[in-house]
Amino acid sequence: MKTLIIGQGLAGTILAFKLLQKGYSITVIDDNNQQKASLKAGGMVNPIVFRRMTKSWLIDGLYPDFLQTTHELEKFLGHQFFYPTPIQRILGAGEELFWTRKYTENGLEKYIDPRISHTPISPYIESPYGYGTVHNGGWYDIQSLVSSFRQYLETNGLLIHKNIDISKDLKTDSNEVRFNNQTYQKVILCQGSFSSNQQPFNQIKYKHTKGEILTINSPVFNHKEIITKNLFILPIHNQKYKVGSTYAWEYTDTNITNEAKNEIIKKLKKIGRFPYSIINQEAGIRPTTHDRRPVIGFLKNQPNIGILNGLGSKGLLLAPWSANQLIQKMENNNFQIHPEVDVERYYKGK
Ligand SMILES: Cc1cc2nc3c(=O)[nH]c(=O)nc-3n(C[C@H](O)[C@H](O)[C@H](O)COP(=O)(O)OP(=O)(O)OC[C@H]3O[C@@H](n4cnc5c(N)ncnc54)[C@H](O)[C@@H]3O)c2cc1C
Repeated sequence: MKTLIIGQGLAGTILAFKLLQKGYSITVIDDNNQQKASLKAGGMVNPIVFRRMTKSWLIDGLYPDFLQTTHELEKFLGHQFFYPTPIQRILGAGEELFWTRKYTENGLEKYIDPRISHTPISPYIESPYGYGTVHNGGWYDIQSLVSSFRQYLETNGLLIHKNIDISKDLKTDSNEVRFNNQTYQKVILCQGSFSSNQQPFNQIKYKHTKGEILTINSPVFNHKEIITKNLFILPIHNQKYKVGSTYAWEYTDTNITNEAKNEIIKKLKKIGRFPYSIINQEAGIRPTTHDRRPVIGFLKNQPNIGILNGLGSKGLLLAPWSANQLIQKMENNNFQIHPEVDVERYYKGK
C-alpha cells in the first residue's frame, strides 16, 4: 500500500519505520523549519504517574511494544537511542507509607522497588524523607532518533521538504489521494501541534501544552541516575543534564521565557545545591488532546485519510503502540482501535 506521511516528528518517524518494516512504499513530507516537539523533549521514559502512584495508562501493554520497537530501530539505524536508567523519586513528608501502600494496591511490582532508601542520594541532593526507585525507566535520545531517521529517509529519496497545505495540495477521492502527480492509497497526518482545527479532522479537541527545559553542565554533580521531585534531573552525555520541564496551558508563542527558566531554577534549588552552568534553554509544544489520550484512526467518510497525533507528555511510551493500532486498522477495517484513542470519539453522532 502506497502511503504518504505528513510530519516527521516522533509520530511520523515511528509510523514510517513500522510501515517500512512491513514492506509498504512510503513518502514522508516534513517542514523542517517549524518547531518539532520531538526535538525539544527531555526524553524521559517513566512508567509511573507519581502524583497518584499509579502505572502510566496501559503501561503493561505499551511497554513491550516500546522495548521491541526501540530494539529494532537501534538495530536498523545502528545507533543506541534508549539508555535504561533507574529513576530516584525523592519523597516528601508522609510519602513513605504512600509509596509502600501503592506498591501492592496498584500492582507496581514490575516497576518500583518497595523499599525506601535513607542513604543520601548524593552529597548535593536533599532527601530528608528518603527516596524510592523506579525500574524500567530511562533516557531516550529522541533528537538522535529523529535526525538519524531523517537522514535515512533523505538518503533513500523518501523525504520531501515542504510545508504542505492539506486542503489545497492533496486531492482525495474515495479510492486514493493525489499529491505532486503521485497517487497514494492512504495519507496519515502526524503533524503534532500544527493540526489544530484543520480539515478534515476539525472536530478533534486539542489542548496543547507548552513546555520549556534547560540543559545544564555540571562536572561536580556527577550523578548517573534520574532524580525527580517536582522536576526531573536527567543525566545525558558528558556531564550534561536535562532539567525540567514546565507546563503552560496558556501561551502566545513558542519562544523561551525567563519565567520558565526561573521556575526551573527555583525548583532545582529546593532539592539540589551544586554548581552548574546553563548551556541551553528550549521550548516546544506538546501535542495534547482534551482528554490527554492520543488520537488515532481514519474517518468513516474519508477512509483514505488517517491521523496519529496527541502523544502528549509521554510520547515515547505511547508512539509504538499507537502506530501499531493505526496499522492494524489500515490492514483490517474491522479492527477496533482502542475506544479511548479512536478518532471516532470526536465524531460520534455527527
Ligand atoms: C519541553 C518538552 C519536554 C518533553 N519531554 C518529554 C519526555 O521527557 N518524554 C516523553 O515521552 N515526551 C516528552 N515530550 C513530548 C514529546 O515531545 C511529544 O509527545 C512528541 O515529540 C510528539 O511528536 P509528534 O511527532 O506528534 O510532533 P512533532 O515532534 O511536533 O512533529 C510534528 C512534525 O510535523 C511537521 N508538520 C506539521 N504540519 C506540517 C505540514 N503542513 N507540512 C509539513 N510538515 C508538517 C512539523 O514540521 C513537525 O516536524 C516533551 C515535549 C516538550 C515540548
